[in-house]
Amino acid sequence: MKIVLASSNPHKVQEINDIVSGSGIEFILPPVGFDPNETGTTFEESSYIKAIEAWKLSKTWTLADDSGLCISALDGKPGIYSARYAETPALRIERVLNEMQEQVNRDAHFSCAMTLINPDGNIEFKYQGICEGFITYAPRGTNGFGYDPIFQLKNSDKTMAELSEAEKNNISHRSIALKKVLEYLNENIISKVR
Ligand code: IMP
Repeated sequence: MKIVLASSNPHKVQEINDIVSGSGIEFILPPVGFDPNETGTTFEESSYIKAIEAWKLSKTWTLADDSGLCISALDGKPGIYSARYAETPALRIERVLNEMQEQVNRDAHFSCAMTLINPDGNIEFKYQGICEGFITYAPRGTNGFGYDPIFQLKNSDKTMAELSEAEKNNISHRSIALKKVLEYLNENIISKVR
């Protein structure tokens, strides 16, 4: 079964295909012209906007995700502004560490909202995956991307950037949400067309 992934980032398509490998599901890029408005005020709303924009172009099964880092002491920021919190990934990390300098409460989580649209253009399934942890005082590790070097996992002494790709794909907010989508598809869609 092929599903359009509402993203213009081939790396994300690859990462998600790695997580679902062997499941019989393959994610593909949307048709040319995919350019959704970034007007959502929650991860859930943004994932729906992306999914429906890709559906309008493809008229087939479409999945979108929207994710970010939420820090308790910063009232949930950077949240939906995670990708735009400063100009470069390094500056975004620097901004977060500066804003967290005086904070004792380091609690944070990554969140990933996924929305699955069916060929009729309706929401078939949605889920929000959460991965809990803490903000470190300095970056550690070189793997991953974004805020990974300053996000230490709950019940672990490692940051996301100190995990291998396979380890991250096992526990990340994205993989938690994706596994639920796969479970739904296997139980409700794939088993019915066999
Ligand atoms: P997107 O919605 O998956 O494109 O994520 C938006 C932004 O959230 C990214 O540009 C990153 O700054 C941040 N982010 C999302 N997921 C992760 C992750 O797994 N590690 C680190 N940063 C992430």
